[in-house]
Amino acid sequence: MTDPSAPPLHVELLATGDELLTGQILDTNSVWLMDRLWDLGVMARRKTLVADDRDDLAAALHETTSRSDLVVMSGGLGPTEDDLTAEVVAAAMGVPLELHEPSLEAIRERFRKLGREMTPNNAKQARFPRGATVVPNRFGTAPGFSVRLGRAELVALPGVPVEYRGLSEEWLLPRLAARAGATPAFRLVKLFAVPESHADQAMRPVMDDPRNRGVRFGYRAHWPEIHVKWSAAPASAGATSESAETRANEILEQVRGIFGDAIFAEGKDELAPLVVAQLTRRGERVALAESCTGGLVAELLTRVPGSSSVFDLGVVAYANQAKTGVVGVPNDLLATHGAVSEPVARAMAEGIRRVAGSTWGIGITGIAGPTGGTPEKPVGTVYVALAGTSGTEVVHRVWRGDRDRVRKTTAYEALDMLRRATRG
Ligand code: ATP
Ligand code: MG
Repeated sequence: MTDPSAPPLHVELLATGDELLTGQILDTNSVWLMDRLWDLGVMARRKTLVADDRDDLAAALHETTSRSDLVVMSGGLGPTEDDLTAEVVAAAMGVPLELHEPSLEAIRERFRKLGREMTPNNAKQARFPRGATVVPNRFGTAPGFSVRLGRAELVALPGVPVEYRGLSEEWLLPRLAARAGATPAFRLVKLFAVPESHADQAMRPVMDDPRNRGVRFGYRAHWPEIHVKWSAAPASAGATSESAETRANEILEQVRGIFGDAIFAEGKDELAPLVVAQLTRRGERVALAESCTGGLVAELLTRVPGSSSVFDLGVVAYANQAKTGVVGVPNDLLATHGAVSEPVARAMAEGIRRVAGSTWGIGITGIAGPTGGTPEKPVGTVYVALAGTSGTEVVHRVWRGDRDRVRKTTAYEALDMLRRATRG
């Protein structure tokens, strides 16, 4: 168990690569690791990006290792001229680079297996600062390594994302978990279309509950999904002797009570796979008539392996003639109410359900913008209808935001209606 009075581990991330600073690639490695660290109850304190430059790298190494317990570095372990990590770390430690025979043999073996010629510069990847602990890499060529530098442990990992993640999962994170004591209990719920500020407001009583002191709460928004997560460190259960798991579960009950049906998934579950699983379990199928979402719902569903057993037909019925001719929407409905209206959404859902002979029919019509809005039907106005054996449900919303956001939110809403209708 950790000592609750011990200061938290100071962790920093350092990523190197010219392409990170020219806007060519995003530093997704750090973002990924921060998320995984958070699950362990560790929050990274800073992250630094440096170009492939000896002086800048040396300065960044000096700064980060003089104030951290752990620095995790990404990149610069390759065979080329601009891969400087091992060299600069060795210089900072005041030690030479030494050849690590087992790594050289592993690299040779890798090239033999791939049937490729090993070039002399690949041997560079088997040279590490004297005294380094080598981290074998079964995901790629360059091993990582770990050394003591300044007051920190410095762990250098390859920049290629599968390798960075692979070595983190296999080597770094388990060691960190062991060092942090018992693993914290971690929970995550996913909300549909709840603004982050509302989520935060609604969570206040839980976060301010004295029993939850020391529990870390966090939010992440990928609209229209908002993720609320918390991690209870074993030490935070301190005052009473209850376990972190119990605390995390009690919070889950509180959070379910607060958000109710706005929670569409918990943990690793995702909306479309959840809907496909529910339909599969019930032996039911769905057909879609989409207008403003342009096939997005069909795309979300068919991305899920196994969706063929629940998905019959998807039509993008944009023109009025398509709505009448293909989906069977009566002409007079369009003339009386306009294409973006509750009766038309309803007729689209019921029509496509009939055409396909499916259990469920979904009809979507709306104004995604930026043009086409009127005072009565502003941009963002959408109608989503779900037709089933016991009738048709229609929701009317006016979403704010640009075309992409309106379309995506609407597609999610359609799936979420189907989720609620098919659970249990
Ligand atoms: P290599 O053996 O391929 O040279 P390396 O450890 O030297 O590996 P880099 O050369 O820095 O790593 O990066 C290799 C590739 O990995 C880059 O071209 C880039 O596509 C990707 N990459 C590097 N750093 C990051 C990062 N921080 N986030 C995401 N991708 C990255
Ligand atoms: Mg490289």
